[in-house]
Amino acid sequence: MTYINTHYAELEQSYLFRTIDQKTGAYLAANPDARLLRLGIGDVTLPLVPAVVAALHSAVDDQASKETFRGYVPEVGYGFFRQAVAARYAKRGVALEEGEIFVSSGASDDLGDLLALFNPGTRALVIEPAYPAYVDANVMSGNTVVHLPSGEADGFAPLPPADLEADVVYLCSPNNPTGAVYSREKLAAWVEWARENGSLIIFDAAYEAFVSSDDVPRSIFEIPGAKTCAVEVCSLSKTAGFTGTRCGYTIVPNELERGGMSVNAMWVRNRTTKTNGVSYLLQRAGAAALSEEGMAQCRENLAVYKGNAKVIMEALDACGVWYCGGVNAPYIWMRCPGGLTSWEFFDELLEQEQVVGTPGSGFGACGEGYFRLTTFGSPEDTREAAMRLQRLCEKLQV
Ligand code: PLP
Repeated sequence: MTYINTHYAELEQSYLFRTIDQKTGAYLAANPDARLLRLGIGDVTLPLVPAVVAALHSAVDDQASKETFRGYVPEVGYGFFRQAVAARYAKRGVALEEGEIFVSSGASDDLGDLLALFNPGTRALVIEPAYPAYVDANVMSGNTVVHLPSGEADGFAPLPPADLEADVVYLCSPNNPTGAVYSREKLAAWVEWARENGSLIIFDAAYEAFVSSDDVPRSIFEIPGAKTCAVEVCSLSKTAGFTGTRCGYTIVPNELERGGMSVNAMWVRNRTTKTNGVSYLLQRAGAAALSEEGMAQCRENLAVYKGNAKVIMEALDACGVWYCGGVNAPYIWMRCPGGLTSWEFFDELLEQEQVVGTPGSGFGACGEGYFRLTTFGSPEDTREAAMRLQRLCEKLQV
């Protein structure tokens, strides 16, 4: 018996982005003059907004002066940061107490760290196609992953199946990679299921800022009863261009209890033991992003990405290709034309039109035959890429 965590040996190798890089590199080596356009970028490209930059500068000045210098930070988050998050939720009718809000270094960190609340062997439900970290983090923890495939019939946002047995459920809306969103009614069905079964929902709201339809919840806590069965993980990465700056927040309601224990109290204990928090500078930057002024500036950046989504959706509409996403998400999930597999379409798009996207089969078996396009590129490149995409789809569909 070894002391080392051999669950790491159970992880499947991820070939998705490595293969994309290899194929793209080989193409460029053979065609050095090609103008490659990327609709596969999963990272923001616009810089931090002025309100955030000003807050960062001013926080640096605070740290440079004896009177305003701050040492160790409160592990769970400064009051000013938690209040800024609470104000954002209040705008959509969700009342949060400061103690329910925890600062984080981003959604990825907390999606992994939260698993420390559960015993090894926990059954974790992952709806596929899925953000790959859900499965891998659970495998590393020695949990049992229950896969629930989704598809066009359920709009890539399935309801709990009648015979479902799971302790923890990941819901990601707006979704990466499909761009699909959960309606109020569908989320309410998951909340009811979780309450009846004593399960716990981890709601990944990393893309909530992209929601533009009034009937689509941005937070699971807009659903009555969710505070007794869910935690929410959120991030400023895509909302405010913080992918390289790193700041987010996690909501753990006071009412949430499992096994006779307060999950909020457990998370406080976890944070105060396992982290020393997020830097003063970043919490100032995060609070500035969440301020009225900061959010107004962030919305200008989001409008650029949304403009890109519109251009791609118009191209797909023009050639009659099925897709979802784009309206409330920075991702568009299209069916590969001409019955091609995900990788076959990748190759055609690269070789015939010099456009790079992401094969859907890389996000789970039920993603085969689909393809993910992202909207984080420049408007100029996106327009050109959409034109090339449309041209190829029209050719393949004949
Ligand atoms: N959740 C989803 C669904 C994502 O797509 C991503 C990043 O792409 C994350 C979480 C991680 O975000 P962060 O940058 O806050 O760690």
